[in-house]
Amino acid sequence: MSVILNYINGRLQQAESKETLEVINPSTGKIYTSAPSSDHRDVESAVDAARAAFPAWSALSIDERSRYMINIADKIEERLDVLAIAESIDNGKPVKLARAVDIPRGAANFRFFGNAITQFASESHDMGTAINYTLRQALGVVGCISPWNLPLYLFSWKIAPALAAGNTVVAKPSEVTPMTAFLLSEICIEVGLPAGVLNIVHGVGEKVGASLTSHPKVKAISFTGSTRVGGEIAKVAAPLFKKISLEMGGKNPNIIFADCDYEKMLNTTLKSSFANQGQICLCGSRIYVERSIYEKFKTNFVARAKLLKIGDPLLPDTNIGAIVSKVHYEKILSYISIAKEEGGRVLCGGSTIHPEGLEEGFYIAPTIIEGLSNHCRTNQEEIFGPVVTIMPFDTEEEALHLSNGTDYGLSATLWTSNLTRAHRFAKELEAGIVWVNTWLMRDLRTPFGGVKKSGVGREGGYDALKFFTEQKNVCIDFS
Ligand code: NAD
Repeated sequence: MSVILNYINGRLQQAESKETLEVINPSTGKIYTSAPSSDHRDVESAVDAARAAFPAWSALSIDERSRYMINIADKIEERLDVLAIAESIDNGKPVKLARAVDIPRGAANFRFFGNAITQFASESHDMGTAINYTLRQALGVVGCISPWNLPLYLFSWKIAPALAAGNTVVAKPSEVTPMTAFLLSEICIEVGLPAGVLNIVHGVGEKVGASLTSHPKVKAISFTGSTRVGGEIAKVAAPLFKKISLEMGGKNPNIIFADCDYEKMLNTTLKSSFANQGQICLCGSRIYVERSIYEKFKTNFVARAKLLKIGDPLLPDTNIGAIVSKVHYEKILSYISIAKEEGGRVLCGGSTIHPEGLEEGFYIAPTIIEGLSNHCRTNQEEIFGPVVTIMPFDTEEEALHLSNGTDYGLSATLWTSNLTRAHRFAKELEAGIVWVNTWLMRDLRTPFGGVKKSGVGREGGYDALKFFTEQKNVCIDFS
């Protein structure tokens, strides 16, 4: 397995300190490679390279920039299998998920923003004897910081619009899952991306992320990760007047009415609860079910969750792979204990699994808990694992009240065939994204982000391109 290196000024290199971090395969619990443990010196070199590359990159024609993006997308698609296996080993996710979602969506991010930039227009406003027009100009050097749960997918979600808009980038992937970011740097070299346009610096958040956030020459930070770290970044970036976009944690409701398409709801709820071992910020971890179907749902949902195949992420029929790291595995287990202390009844799962030959890996069975109040810690704090709670409700008002009863507001899913109710709920739910009779259906043109403690700002479509550009109003008097 390749040793991971930084990608700075077009070259692959070790950290200045020559120190490395161990990278663990969560399915075996064993170290399988290493990544640079970079610090402020590597960030400094990357920012210098990005500053030097900015004038030429931002001056390229949109067609030329777009072509680089599309070439990167093509290469990601060509390497679908290699990248999917790498993502699975690095993260513990089932390879079939990486093959169907993570890697194709990574390619789609480059393709989408490579095309979107060719359609990104500015406005003009006629005042009779004067005209106003808006210039949208690249910011300069921007920082992109991403988490471990969808490594290449979320890394490229930030890098692609930033580059397409003409910025140069210093990017920091999660130290927990650095492999596909490294493979992306090899792709960038292969397509001949000019040196310094994209720089990828590996290492821990407290060193690399913090140096990037506090660097005076970095004009904007796009961050996806926990609400705690998002708050740290906001504190550091605010007095430096950087633009920030924060995509943070969630505790999303999944609201099920008796009049829904039951089979579709059940199949999708299994995914929205346990896909990627529940480690998707959009997973629905609080499930509210109309009382008339609560018992039926409980029986069917528990039975179906017990059928999910847990084990080696590289096997083609695995549904539930490994939890990303030992630290996170222990965090999830501690929340299962908290749920029990709070009076929760564990209907299935609740325990670790030790597949044969992978006894040191980090596996937790899909866990369904009932009997908890809405304001207990289990229902208020983000667990980010294969753990959901179920709770009955009687009225629409109650369902809405329960759904909105957390500090988070990323997404919500609603199951009903009543059109007017769907519209009423969509309007009242405190969330950045509302799915009705579906989950995780994404269109890259739409605004993506959360409210409350789930996010500040929106990414996706022109919102991302607007974030990565500065608007300038030009007013010309021709009277
Ligand atoms: P995290 O906040 O621990 O880390 C995210 C990134 O920030 C990593 O690259 C990390 O190294 C870096 N970082 C850590 N400390 C830093 C600091 N002081 N300054 C700058 N950077 C720093 O999050 P995680 O554990 O990697 O990911 C899980 C979290 O991400 C969950 O809360 C999940 O909900 C959230 N998430 C949100 C979205 C969304 O779109 N809203 C998507 C995916 C994940």
